Amino acid sequence: MSGTSERNRVVVVGSSFAGMTAALDLRKRLDPTYEVVVFDPRADFTFIPSLIWLPFGLREPEDISFPFAPMYEKKGIRFVNEAVTGIDVDARTVSSLSGDTLGYDRLLLATGPRLAFEKVPGLGPVGGHTQSVCNMEHALLTRAAWEGFLENPGPVVIGTAQGGSCFGASYEFLLNTKYRIKKAGLEDVAPVTFITAEPFLGHFGLGGVADSEQRVEKFFGKLNIEGIPNNTIKEVRDGEIELEGGRVLPFAFSMIVPPFAGVDVVAQTEGLSNPMGFVPVDDEFRHNEIDSIFAAGVDIAIKPPHETLVPAGVPKTGHMSEIMGRTAAQNIAADLQGGERKSLPLGELEAICVLDAGNSGIIFKADHVLGDSEHPRVMAGPQAHWAKLAFERVFLETRKRGFASI
Ligand SMILES: Cc1cc2nc3c(=O)[nH]c(=O)nc-3n(C[C@H](O)[C@H](O)[C@H](O)COP(=O)(O)OP(=O)(O)OC[C@H]3O[C@@H](n4cnc5c(N)ncnc54)[C@H](O)[C@@H]3O)c2cc1C
Repeated sequence: MSGTSERNRVVVVGSSFAGMTAALDLRKRLDPTYEVVVFDPRADFTFIPSLIWLPFGLREPEDISFPFAPMYEKKGIRFVNEAVTGIDVDARTVSSLSGDTLGYDRLLLATGPRLAFEKVPGLGPVGGHTQSVCNMEHALLTRAAWEGFLENPGPVVIGTAQGGSCFGASYEFLLNTKYRIKKAGLEDVAPVTFITAEPFLGHFGLGGVADSEQRVEKFFGKLNIEGIPNNTIKEVRDGEIELEGGRVLPFAFSMIVPPFAGVDVVAQTEGLSNPMGFVPVDDEFRHNEIDSIFAAGVDIAIKPPHETLVPAGVPKTGHMSEIMGRTAAQNIAADLQGGERKSLPLGELEAICVLDAGNSGIIFKADHVLGDSEHPRVMAGPQAHWAKLAFERVFLETRKRGFASI
């Protein structure tokens, strides 16, 4: 890699919904004299939303992933298949695992979350007792655990831990698991409990969308799922979860989405992030205090609009991450070579939650992720399942070919 003196370069750290979308958009906008460089330790893109289906054998890894290198090469973007391990904000350089250093004019952080299992004793698939579907490796472990459960069924506990924010994922996995339990004829031996940090069911970290609380409660009643909101997990032990207050939930199978935090390189670089490791940004997705740095996706800081009894974060969906990435790309290009800027206050971001339930589901659309929505929409039925399928197919087919938008 070249040294710090050579610039005319935008570096993107992280290549997923936010970073990959931004890099492709930047390449379209920027003059060819600017180089776009993307770092990611992963060689393949994974469509994370479909990991809810992988444990049940409904998707194989190759169905929902593709390699970055050929796509980026075709688009004239340099892809470095390594993690960024150091950021020098003053020198405007990043360094990677191999020890190389690269200068940048603008840096876009799109690193997603660190899965902070350590915040709850006994949580997580590595060194703990619960499963996760937050990345490909974890979803494959969950598949093995599910196969074990089918041999030895028993109670099931699914949910999101205190401090979590990715509530849609746990609801979807819950509804798909319940659907699979029914199909396997195991409903009598496998009661299902849902635990969540949300103050009420259907809150989603957004304060609810229209009548989402009633809708989710009705759904749970129909499916015979016990929902426990306002929940704090005290400890997970082999085969049981102890909640704050003393209740113990035994389980034969459990998937709990962990709290999220910022990744180490961001959290450990002085002045870059808040105490949780998330990056504070302005309405252009530029760092609040560092002009040359932008951030988009799950790694940005969003203050929850309402305080909750149990800490619950604001969800940052794949769709929101794409929009943030595209907005950051437009403003980076405007910084470097002029052109129209875009301001998108966080409060104006819209959120679409698709709760797939196996063959049907519910779609919630909030026109403002923070505060009250003027036109919230809720749609229940098989179209929710089809919407998720369409999102998967369209996203994978467009990005595999290097298109930044649908
Ligand atoms: C089970 C599940 C289901 C979901 N379903 C939906 C859904 O139906 N619809 C929806 O819109 N959203 C859904 N989401 C949310 C969606 O997956 C996230 O919003 C999205 O992945 C966030 O994109 P991102 O680019 O910010 O981060 P990520 O997708 O987490 O990607 C971050 C990237 O940064 C890389 N990285 C990390 N550290 C470094 C480093 N130091 N150097 C270089 N690269 C680094 C990582 O390897 C990774 O590739 C779901 C999430 C889960 C877990």
